[in-house]
Amino acid sequence: MFFVHLSKLKILMVASEAAPFAKAGGLGDVVSSLADSLAALGHDVRVLLPLYFLIPQDLKQGFHPLPGVISVHLGQEHWARLWEFVPANGPRYYFIEYDHFFFRDRLYDGPYGGFEDNPQRFAFLCRAAIDLPEFLQWIPDIYHVHDWMAALVPVYLETVARRGPLAHTGSVLTIHNLQHQGYAHQSIIDYAGLPWGLWQSDKLEACGGVNFLKGGIYFANKLTTVSPTYAEEIRTPAFGCGLEDIFRFRGGDLVGILNGIDENLWNPATDPTLPANYDRNNLEKKSLCKMNFCQQRFGDAKSDNRPLFVAISRLYAQKGLDVLADILPWVVETMSVRFAILGCGEWLLEEHLASIAHRSPDRIWFYRGYDETLAHQMTAAADFFVMPSRFEPCGLTQLYSMRYGTLPIVHATGGLKDSVVSRAHGVERATGFVFNDLTHQALYSAIGWACATYYDHPSEILTMRQNGMCRDFSWKQSSRRYLECYHWAMEKKMGFP
Ligand code: ADP
Repeated sequence: MFFVHLSKLKILMVASEAAPFAKAGGLGDVVSSLADSLAALGHDVRVLLPLYFLIPQDLKQGFHPLPGVISVHLGQEHWARLWEFVPANGPRYYFIEYDHFFFRDRLYDGPYGGFEDNPQRFAFLCRAAIDLPEFLQWIPDIYHVHDWMAALVPVYLETVARRGPLAHTGSVLTIHNLQHQGYAHQSIIDYAGLPWGLWQSDKLEACGGVNFLKGGIYFANKLTTVSPTYAEEIRTPAFGCGLEDIFRFRGGDLVGILNGIDENLWNPATDPTLPANYDRNNLEKKSLCKMNFCQQRFGDAKSDNRPLFVAISRLYAQKGLDVLADILPWVVETMSVRFAILGCGEWLLEEHLASIAHRSPDRIWFYRGYDETLAHQMTAAADFFVMPSRFEPCGLTQLYSMRYGTLPIVHATGGLKDSVVSRAHGVERATGFVFNDLTHQALYSAIGWACATYYDHPSEILTMRQNGMCRDFSWKQSSRRYLECYHWAMEKKMGFP
């Protein structure tokens, strides 16, 4: 531990997203806020991202081109420009410009699903990450790579880049969501400039093709995922998405570290998007946020005291909002509650939610889309935040909710189980409501439990809100755990067991 605090590391993060430049979900939040917190501890942190067309223009205005072009050594050599963004304090960002791959108005998919050339796009990013240090004349101690899109970096490091300037550079792969693994046709081996010897079932091969994430898991010096419970779950067939055996094989190198949040961006006391700011000592101002929201969205003439339940999510099977949609008519018929839902994703689920909301406009409001300002306002306005995820590697929205004095109602899985203390364990420590099985009945009962507590025991609700707001969800603890992992990875690279 002494060593961890003393030595300043050179860390290169490689990812396909980082807020505020490009974000499709929690990955983008985590990459930038973790990088910020490591930089604040004095480490030399740099982040490599693609130069996407969709990065907001006002941010791009702060980027500067680096002189020269970088040569990216795939099967064939490619040439690209690099842009740099150097904030006043915090990590340095590099953006690789290659319009053929990144000049698109979406990150990963179009109207008909994932882009077909995603494997080539992210093989390019990974190989650029390997070529970057020589271009910059800056050799990192550690690569911290995120999800399948960056998972070929450890593969390159342990094979074609094993000798040379990166010979002592270790690697840590963080898995944010195992559902996405990056499958490609076997021809990607030639494209990526990797040796065919890697095309084996205990390395990159899977189902006759190539699995990027599997390769990363096999070759990274250390593996992490984003909560301790998910780190256990993925060793089982129910959650391992076919990779459970390799997780058991590499079990000694796999660590679960709970995500932190950006406490400046998500702070109800200073959040500029809210009609009223508040902290745990003046929660009556939170009621103003609710009143304002209900007046705007439900057209209330004055305050309505019914509890407001909120869900903000990508609308995919993982998030379990189909289960909520199934019971919602029944819930509003039998309980005096209101629901506001923000999300987009699967068309059928969007349609289902829109039609339910259309039938009960005074009780259910649904906004189909992605809107960060609205996400902040709804989190502040809500009494309860519903997360019936089938699986949840970490989840950030329940952390944001607790920080905003909103009580999460969650299925006991992954990071939800690790972060929410259930009312069932006593009101003194409770921060939300946790249910064990994801069934219609269990979700209905959990909502009923929260609703009954709201009407019958308002003082308990207040205590639970304050409990959540007192919790430390910063990166303080977790960034130190990542530093430990970096040191373990570097030792492993040097041949220590
Ligand atoms: P995941 O990464 O699986 O989508 P997380 O809970 O880890 O789930 O992170 C989701 C992030 O995306 C949060 O910052 C959340 O506020 C945001 N988000 C999800 N859907 C929307 C939406 N429709 N509008 C605005 N923000 C959204």
